[in-house]
Amino acid sequence: MENKLDGNAAGGILQEIFPFEMTTVLATCTGCGTTGAIGALAAYMHGMGTVLRCPSCDTMLIRVAQVKGRYLLDMRGIRVLQISAEA
Ligand SMILES: [Zn+2]
Repeated sequence: MENKLDGNAAGGILQEIFPFEMTTVLATCTGCGTTGAIGALAAYMHGMGTVLRCPSCDTMLIRVAQVKGRYLLDMRGIRVLQISAEA
C-alpha cells in the first residue's frame, strides 16, 4: 500500500538530511532529462521509506529511508542537482 503525494511531502525527511530547503532544489532526471523542483516530483511514502519519481517518465530520482539510526539515500536517478547558493 502506498500513498501518492507530491515532493513537498518528502520535505520533512529531506530537511533532516540536507542543510537547505530541498523542495526548491532543481533536479534533472537521468531518464528523460526533465529538470524540475523536487517539491513537484511524485512522492510515494511507504513504511520502508520515501520514493520520489519523475512526473514525466516515472524514473526513480530519490529513495530515502531511515534504518537503524542511519539515513539511506539513493539518488541514482538524478543527473544534476541545482542548489541555490542564496539562502
Ligand atoms: Zn524523467
